[in-house]
Amino acid sequence: MDAAKSEKVTLSDGEWRRRLDPDAYHVLREAGTEPPFTGQYVHVKDSGIYRCAGCGAELFSSDTKYESGTGWPSFWEPVASDAVEKHRDWSMLLPRTEVRCAKCGGHLGHVFNDGPQPTGQRYCMNSCALKLDKSTDS
Ligand code: FE
Repeated sequence: MDAAKSEKVTLSDGEWRRRLDPDAYHVLREAGTEPPFTGQYVHVKDSGIYRCAGCGAELFSSDTKYESGTGWPSFWEPVASDAVEKHRDWSMLLPRTEVRCAKCGGHLGHVFNDGPQPTGQRYCMNSCALKLDKSTDS
């Protein structure tokens, strides 16, 4: 792993508040969830790389995005296994697996085991935690 990739982004709460708009702050730093079918990337099919809205780290490729019908942008695999970190989330009756950006620790969403092949995973993400970097050569 190259040094730049392993470098963590650590900002104070005040710095995050200044850097993020309120919706993104609520999701990324307070583990909020945007209402379904409201995010800007739910139905987007453009090619590119979805980056973390907090720190810019590459998280998901549009090649792994699919229509899950849940109202949140869904992917079957992150761009690299170490791009995200998973944590057990006990905040609801049934435990879920929270997904965070490995670089800044920002909350992105949850991952479930009801996704399509080849992984069977459904990374259920919040649009406002992501920023699509559209590719120009496809
Ligand atoms: Fe990040």
